[in-house]
Amino acid sequence: MFDNLSDKLQRAFKSLRGQGKLTPENMEEALREIRLALLEADVNFKVVKEVVDRIQYKALGEDVMTALSPAEQVVKIVRDELIAILGKDTAKVKFASQPPTIILMAGLQGSGKTTTSGKLAHWLKNGGHRPMLVSVDVYRPAAREQLKVVAQAINAKLYEGKVEEANTDTVVRLAKEARREAISNGCNILIVDTAGRLHIDDQLMDEMQHLKTLLNPQEILFVADAMTGQDAVNSAKEFHDKLTLTGVVLTKMDGDARGGAALSIRQVTGQPIKFIGVGEKYDALEPFHPDRIVGRILGMGDVLSLIEKAEASIDKKKSEEFASKALSGDGFSLADFRDQLKQVKKLGSLQSIIGMLPRIGPFAGLQQVADKVDDKELSRVEAIINSMTPHEREHHDVINGSRRKRIANGSGTSVQEVNQLLRQYSQMRKMFKTMSKPSFAKRLSGMKM
Ligand code: GDP
Repeated sequence: MFDNLSDKLQRAFKSLRGQGKLTPENMEEALREIRLALLEADVNFKVVKEVVDRIQYKALGEDVMTALSPAEQVVKIVRDELIAILGKDTAKVKFASQPPTIILMAGLQGSGKTTTSGKLAHWLKNGGHRPMLVSVDVYRPAAREQLKVVAQAINAKLYEGKVEEANTDTVVRLAKEARREAISNGCNILIVDTAGRLHIDDQLMDEMQHLKTLLNPQEILFVADAMTGQDAVNSAKEFHDKLTLTGVVLTKMDGDARGGAALSIRQVTGQPIKFIGVGEKYDALEPFHPDRIVGRILGMGDVLSLIEKAEASIDKKKSEEFASKALSGDGFSLADFRDQLKQVKKLGSLQSIIGMLPRIGPFAGLQQVADKVDDKELSRVEAIINSMTPHEREHHDVINGSRRKRIANGSGTSVQEVNQLLRQYSQMRKMFKTMSKPSFAKRLSGMKM
């Protein structure tokens, strides 16, 4: 996600490199590129205009920080503006003081409403809550059946109820029963999956109004498909005008959505994006962190998300040991490198990890490396290191020509592949040494990731 926008913005920033000062002349080209980048990312044109005007005003205004280079100043201004339009803080779910908390899921058919209801229940369960799910889509038996399957898959409570007639009365009755059932089952949250339509119509809106009045929900979350770009923004606005939403969930952010919906929906509705859907599985839901997403857009990566993900699946002690070794004078051994690779594999594909890293400084070339390295190659690297003796793993300098041949034979690879790995390993050791220098940390903190 955001790759294109990210690349285009990088180009705009590049045009300012080597300039001594920001002037109306050199900013003109950069602003043109920024405007185009945002428009091509399908950001709402009004939002683009506002943002570009503000960037221009700030860049040429008096409050530019002279400690930064002109290119860095513009990166910072664009970063601040993007964060401002996405909302500064991570929006939280609002809970009722008296349970159950009611979360009404709204949205058009196909937006991912039912899947998201399940993901949200799963996420809440992981947070120690006891959610109950109910579908009040009395018009589509398949939709109710789908939620049942979802609830079973994540092992969450579901209120099924009976549907004899498909009308608003039944919807209201089901919702009432579900709330009662949630209370008597000790569930502190009720997630209501509502009827989806292909288009907004009056009956749908009336029914949502009824549910809102009856349930007085803490949250009305609009589920929008990020791939539909400005259509998602427009329907969010219509729902908001009629229902007063409390937040938005943007789904399918793992696809090749250009990011425009994310960047416009808050500005247009005034409501925060609370979660993003990043896959079809039930754990593919993430709280939306504006600052991190902006980091990703600007090519500074999403280091914090990566750290969170890593913390969830990686042996923390081992990683800390590796980091302290890597950053120490002696550096890390090939055995440490192999252990680390195993951990990396636990995190998912190399591509997805690299995508979260910043594209600055020593990381800049990583994307190109990753494009060449597929996950099979990770296994090959592991096999090569496995074919070394423990002594060789600790002292890579002893690996001479004949040893390389033996290792290649043992691992079913070629001498070239062994050479390449040893070269990469040396480069990595060098990279970590650079990172351990105070000057690097200073630069990184200056970028405020
Ligand atoms: P509903 O009609 O709004 O209830 O939509 P569904 O929950 O049935 O979802 C429609 C399709 O989108 C399904 O195939 C889901 O698996 C898929 N989907 C939902 N959320 C995501 C997401 O975040 N990423 C991806 N790739 N697919 C999603």
